[in-house]
Amino acid sequence: MSTTRKLVIAIDGPAGAGKSTIAARLAQALGYLNLESGAMYRALALKALQRGASLDDHAALAALARASRIELIPTSEGNQVLLDGEDVSARIRQQDVTDAASRVSVHPAVREWMVARQRELGAGGGVIMEGRDIGTVVFPDADLKIFLDAAPHVRTERRAAQHQQKTGLAAAREAIAAELRERDRRDTTRSHSPLVPAEDAVIIDSSALDIEDVIARIRALIEQKLPPS
Ligand code: C5P
Repeated sequence: MSTTRKLVIAIDGPAGAGKSTIAARLAQALGYLNLESGAMYRALALKALQRGASLDDHAALAALARASRIELIPTSEGNQVLLDGEDVSARIRQQDVTDAASRVSVHPAVREWMVARQRELGAGGGVIMEGRDIGTVVFPDADLKIFLDAAPHVRTERRAAQHQQKTGLAAAREAIAAELRERDRRDTTRSHSPLVPAEDAVIIDSSALDIEDVIARIRALIEQKLPPS
């Protein structure tokens, strides 16, 4: 695949749609940076939990964000995340941080700070950034915008399988389904940059597709955006 022109590719969608896995695979194939914007919200949420800051106090959270150094280091296994120099990559995937990230992300002042950092990270092109508002807000001029969706029961099953693989324990599907519903509700109903497909996004419903199918579809779309080599 030609990589002469460095594209900016936005992949948005709800939790459990497969964004991270697909973005990481595509980035590897293209030699692009894979940037998980959700990891930045998670890192700030962790800091708020550590400091005992209220997750509803938008001014305190925005001040905390401004005083933080959040670094994303793309690796073949996803992003390594440094919070003020400390590796928090594993910690930010735990459930308490997942819940807190969903709550801190509703505040406009927090989002403005995040968006500014994310634009800096993607400024050079050659990036695949995944999140909820990448095609609508962070990179409205992205070369390619994908909105990756899947039916709620499919997303629940995928999360349950991931949980089992990681811990060896059977997952409580009801709890996973409830958590996804609540995160979806917060993401889609917040007043500032809610989760919606960009008007020019290609919507891919991965409910009945496996990962290889989705990757093949997106690679074909990327090919169309690259100049002939
Ligand atoms: O993608 P991930 O599940 O890691 O994101 C954690 C939380 O951060 C999400 O539940 C969502 O509320 C928020 N988020 C966001 N905008 C983004 C990325 C993530 O609001 N661009």
